[in-house]
Amino acid sequence: MQQLDLSSLLTRFKEPETLKMAKMGRELRAKGFDITDLSLGEPDFDTPQHIKIAAIEAIQQNYSHYTPVAGFLDLRQAICEKLHRDNSLHYTPEQIVVGTGAKQCIANLVLALVDAGDEVIIPMPYWVTYSEIVKLAGGIPVLVKTKMENGFKITADELQANISSRTKLFMFSSPCNPTGAVYSEQELKLLAAVFEKQEHVYIMSDEIYEFINYSGKHFSIAQFESIKNRTIVINGLSKGYAMTGWRLGYLAAPMEIAKACDKIQGQFTSATCSITQRAAIAALSGDMQPTKMMIEAFKNRKDLVMDLISQIPGMICSDPPGAFYVFPEVKSFFGKKTVEEELISNADELCMYLLNKAHVSTVTGSAFGEPDCIRISFANNIENIKTGFGKIKSALASLK
Ligand code: PLP
Repeated sequence: MQQLDLSSLLTRFKEPETLKMAKMGRELRAKGFDITDLSLGEPDFDTPQHIKIAAIEAIQQNYSHYTPVAGFLDLRQAICEKLHRDNSLHYTPEQIVVGTGAKQCIANLVLALVDAGDEVIIPMPYWVTYSEIVKLAGGIPVLVKTKMENGFKITADELQANISSRTKLFMFSSPCNPTGAVYSEQELKLLAAVFEKQEHVYIMSDEIYEFINYSGKHFSIAQFESIKNRTIVINGLSKGYAMTGWRLGYLAAPMEIAKACDKIQGQFTSATCSITQRAAIAALSGDMQPTKMMIEAFKNRKDLVMDLISQIPGMICSDPPGAFYVFPEVKSFFGKKTVEEELISNADELCMYLLNKAHVSTVTGSAFGEPDCIRISFANNIENIKTGFGKIKSALASLK
């Protein structure tokens, strides 16, 4: 067969490992295996009723046309009100661009800021997409390894040491996927002090897990006025409102950057779905009780998971202050053999072993730049979590 002549762009980046793992789990399930999915990157809850009703009404009211590229004006106003109410941040609707998920907003931003050869600092472990979007744009990811004893957070010194004259952007998430790390106001203040002196560096603050925080109130680095004119806040509805499939995220940025993102989005998708946009207004201005109940459930599951992990010899794990993942170190299992005499030499092989032999899907830490760890999601019900950890425990105990 003739070799397809695809673009060289495709060789610059990889497909998301998280989606790959979910796909492999689905394939095994389709073959009849009882797979416990602990790889999920989304709440297992249903979208709250009042949001669904707003979408149904929007369909009935014929919200079926193209919308402004950046999103309906009243949605952008609702986002400004949310940012003011929850984060003490002041933006005007012209500074907001709504996209097809936070992922598209991040892509818009990177394409708007990063030129070929520009460096982008990303604390590691990081969400899989950051480095790949930077590479897609022709930029150079500068991955800065963080330490478990520092809660997987970059320090001001580490940040300072990695800034060069080519640094264009710093990308991070708090709460973080995969580690659950949450930066305190004081920690962000120290990072902001570094950025104050580095006027050529922009800051992307991904706050998609804002509400899934067990450690207190969320603080945004954009709250430091001295760097707000170079800071871009990314957020969305996927995690906090259980709306991953609806595809809505947004960014709040200095005016010129928002305009640039609007221009890029205008050629890629025009805008996100009109019905989702109407539902988003209901989500952002409506009752937060369903979100609070979801967080309470995540907190209980996290406590259960930490207890279950403490019963697995060789797994070392810090208690995540945010998001819905644990990120245990598993290197004590490297070098061991399965009952079939297969060697487990790294986290990729350990995850494949857990999937194929224990029928539990997790995600290898190497996907997030940390090859000694694996990511286990607790966005699943208590019964499945107990079953999954039971299977993991016995599969690991049988390694020799
Ligand atoms: N940022 C982080 C840190 C994430 O974990 C995710 C999804 O997993 C996203 C952004 C993308 O979210 P969305 O569904 O809004 O595209």
